[in-house]
Amino acid sequence: MYNDIVNFIQDIYKTKAFIPLHVPVFKGNEKAYVIDAIDSTFVSSIGEYVNRFEDEFAKKVRSKYAIATVNGTSALHIALLLLGVKEDTEVITQPLTFIATCNAINYLGAKPHFVDVDKDSMGLSPTILKAHLTKYAQVKNGKCYNKITKRRISACVPMHTFGHASRIDEIVAICDAFRIPVLEDAAESLGSLYKNQNLGTFGKLGVFSFNGNKIITAGGGGAIVTDDAELAKRAKHLTTTAKLPHRYEYAHDEIGYNYRMPNLNAALLVGQLEKLDSFVKNKRELAKKYETFFQGSTIAFKTEIKHSHSNYWLNVLLLEDKIQRDIFLNFMNDNGIMSRPVWQLMNTMRMFENSEKSPLVNSKWLADRIVNIPSSITP
Ligand SMILES: *Cc1c(COP(=O)(O)O)cnc(C)c1O
Repeated sequence: MYNDIVNFIQDIYKTKAFIPLHVPVFKGNEKAYVIDAIDSTFVSSIGEYVNRFEDEFAKKVRSKYAIATVNGTSALHIALLLLGVKEDTEVITQPLTFIATCNAINYLGAKPHFVDVDKDSMGLSPTILKAHLTKYAQVKNGKCYNKITKRRISACVPMHTFGHASRIDEIVAICDAFRIPVLEDAAESLGSLYKNQNLGTFGKLGVFSFNGNKIITAGGGGAIVTDDAELAKRAKHLTTTAKLPHRYEYAHDEIGYNYRMPNLNAALLVGQLEKLDSFVKNKRELAKKYETFFQGSTIAFKTEIKHSHSNYWLNVLLLEDKIQRDIFLNFMNDNGIMSRPVWQLMNTMRMFENSEKSPLVNSKWLADRIVNIPSSITP
């Protein structure tokens, strides 16, 4: 069986050589734009490509504003800061996520508070969130508090795992009722939709990443999106050292951050953004092939939930159990097919092991079974 999988993936990628999990493709205007940026000498924090990217990106995800940043982690940091996350508050998120989500929470001195995911979406579970908040949270003067720890719950950060939508409309409705602002970690889900709306645009703020392994890349980069003019202005100000506009003076009115995306990266990214739709189409066709191949198998291929349109950034298989998962991982990696388990659950890491949490049954179940298989654009 595992041999058939190796052959199948080699056929898809038309090679017997090593097949990585995800590699970028630069076959459009990327090179021309990067050369143009170099020729202009504007390779750093000022330049036309940054502005152009922000405009085109906002249009693409149907958000009013977009602010480009140096990476997704810095975008998360500033977005959380803008929502009022601060020391000794709690931020609800899922344990099944990449470390960046929890790191950003900690940069502000806040603590992650873990709530379980749904098995089908792999994203934060609205059902579990509602039950958990009903039991442990209390709204006072328009703010939400944890009844046990007495700390304020200052934000909620759902993450759309591997590009698949979580039930984000329900999550936002529950958080609204509990007066908790929502920041979507949409780092993996650019181009994905839920009920015909782009992921990343449901919460007060959304964050994207353009790291080398994401669906489109700037080498390194990130973006914050919002429909709120005031938040957008603040995001731009804080990510550009909080500098006041002036012809020559260096005047700054608060502690800011040097988180602006360089123009050189933005040039690459503008070229990549032109390719996004074709990348999503290509990846959905690949997912269909995998889905068909694994039909009737003891290995389940993960498909998008109802009402969603996934970018299938990284394809997911569910093995029978953890033992089978490890046998699979070893076999694939021994045979030149890169395959990986999901991240170790955040609540099991030393830094977060004493965090507040709901029972995390689904996260554990998924972590024992998920593997990613090659998901690059196919030839
Ligand atoms: C990639 C990613 C980020 C941000 O990563 P950067 O490398 O800082 O751009 C954040 N959250 C998740 C879930 C990610 O996958």
